[in-house]
Amino acid sequence: MILTDLPEQSLERFGEYTMLYAGEREVTNLELQDSANRLANGLHNLGVKPGDRVVVCMPNSPEVFIAYQAVLRAGAIVLPVMFVLHPREIGFILQASGASAVITSQAILPSIEQATSGMETPPKLVVAGIAQNQPSPNAGIPCNSLCSLMAAADPEIELPPIKEDDVAVILFTSGTTGQPKGVMLTHRNLYSNAASAVQLAEEAGDEPGTTIGVLPLAHIYGFTMANTLFLRGSSVVILPKFDVREVFEAVQKHKVTAFSAVPAMIYALTTAPEAEEYDLTSLESVGSGSAPLPVSLIEAFRKRFNAEIYEGYGLSEAAPTVSAHRKGEPVKAGSVGRAFPGVELRIADELGNPLAVGEVGELLVRGENITPGYYNNEEATRAALKDGWLHTGDVARLDEDGYLYIVDRKKDLILRGGFNIYPRDLEELISRHPAVAEVAVVGVPSERMGEEVVAVVVRNPDTDITEEELLAFCQERLAKYKTPRKVVFMEAMPRNGVGKILKKSLREQVAEQVE
Ligand code: ATP
Repeated sequence: MILTDLPEQSLERFGEYTMLYAGEREVTNLELQDSANRLANGLHNLGVKPGDRVVVCMPNSPEVFIAYQAVLRAGAIVLPVMFVLHPREIGFILQASGASAVITSQAILPSIEQATSGMETPPKLVVAGIAQNQPSPNAGIPCNSLCSLMAAADPEIELPPIKEDDVAVILFTSGTTGQPKGVMLTHRNLYSNAASAVQLAEEAGDEPGTTIGVLPLAHIYGFTMANTLFLRGSSVVILPKFDVREVFEAVQKHKVTAFSAVPAMIYALTTAPEAEEYDLTSLESVGSGSAPLPVSLIEAFRKRFNAEIYEGYGLSEAAPTVSAHRKGEPVKAGSVGRAFPGVELRIADELGNPLAVGEVGELLVRGENITPGYYNNEEATRAALKDGWLHTGDVARLDEDGYLYIVDRKKDLILRGGFNIYPRDLEELISRHPAVAEVAVVGVPSERMGEEVVAVVVRNPDTDITEEELLAFCQERLAKYKTPRKVVFMEAMPRNGVGKILKKSLREQVAEQVE
C-alpha cells in the first residue's frame, strides 16, 4: 500500500467530512486531496522531479498535511523539519539532503533565508501566507507564493509510478545524542505502522472521533497521525503551539476522548489550575511517548483527570511505534506496553544474542516498519541494521507477559568508577520528591571517577529546597556509588522541538560545575 492512495481511500470509505480544524478554518478530506493535487502540480511546474527531496518546515497548520501529501503526489520525498531548529541546523539538513525545494511559511522565512545564504544552488522556496510571488529580501531567492502556485495549477493529477519500497520520507533525528542522521522511511514502513495503530484502535472499539494535533507535525508522530486520519475517518484539531488552555478548549469543544502528548506536556496539563474551568469529562486517555514518563506523573495525571495514560515507545527508525499499552489490558506503570502488531522485539547481549526474560540488554526490533537505513550514510546504516534487526541503542528488558521496560539509552549510561549507572533509575527516585518539578541525571567527565553523577533539577515554584537537602534525600535511598555528587538547579530544561530534554547540551552546561 502506498501513502498517495490514502486520500482516495478515505473518500471512498467515509465520504467527504471535516478532517482538519485549525482556529476558524475547517478542511475536508476532499479539499485536502484537491489542494494536494494542485500543490503537487505546482511543484512539478517549479521543476521538482520524482525522487527529489523537498523540505517542509513550518508550524502546525493544514498546509503541513497538504504539503506532505503534495510532495508524495509529485513522486518526491518529504523532509519534515522542525521550524524551531537553528538556521545552521536547517542548513545542515538542506546540504545533507540536497533538497530541491522548501515549503515554508512567512514567519519562518528569515530562518530559511539564513539557512540557504551562500548556497551555490539554493532550493526553490514556496511560502505560505504571502499573496504573491516576491523576491526574497535577504537571500535574493524568489519566493513563490503557495496560494498562487496552487491557484495556477490543475486540480487533476496523473500520479507518477510509486512503489511500496520507495522512500517516502527522510527524517533527520533531532540529534539529542549526536549529529543528526537522515532516517529513510518507505511507503511500506509508514503504512504498516499506521495500519497497526488503526488495528488496535478498532479492536478496542474506539470511535474514530476527533483528536488533537499539538505535537509538532514535523516529528514522525505527526506524519503517522496524518496517515491514521485517512485510515480511520477521524479528525484533528491542529494547534500551532502547546498551550494548556488551548488543549483544554479543544477537549471541551470537540469532546475529545484521546490524544497523544509527550511527558513535558502531560506534566504541564496535570499541574495547570486552568483545568478547573473546563469540562474535560470526555477525556478517556492520553498517549505518551518519546521520553520516559515518571511513574509519579502517571499517578498524578490519573487522579487529576480520572483518565488513563497509555505509554508507548518508538523511534524514527521504526516509523515510529514499537510498543504500546492496549486498552482493556493491564497498564503496567514503568512499562511501555507490548509489541505493536507486526513488530518483533528481542533483548540482546553485546553480540546480538537473545537474552532471557527479565534480563537487561539492548533492544533490537524487526518488522515491516523498520527503516532500510540512513540517507547517504552507509556506516551508520551498517551499525544500526544487522541481520534484519534494528539496534535501537536503548537498553531494555521484557517481562513474562511480553511487556517492555526501557531502562535507559545506551549513550546516557553513566560509567562511574567501574560501575554502570542508569540515570533513569535516579530520575524516577528524585522526581518523587515533592519539591521537584523535573529532573534529569547526567554523567560528566571526572578525572578521579571517569564520570560523575549530576542531578539537574527544576524546582516547583513554591519551594526553596537546597542542594544539601536533595542530596540527603538521595543518600537515604540510594547505594553510595549511585548517589549524585552534585545537584544543579535550573529554571528550565533545554529541550528539542518535541519537548525532549537535550542531555548532550545539559552535560556540556554542567560539566564545568563539577571537579
Ligand atoms: P537522536 O536519535 O538523534 O538522539 P531522538 O532521540 O530525538 O534523536 P527519536 O527517534 O525522536 O530521535 O527518539 C527515539 C528515542 O526516544 C528512543 O530511542 C528512546 O530512547 C526514546 N523514547 C521514545 N519513547 C520512549 C519512552 N516511552 N520511554 C523512554 N524513552 C523513549
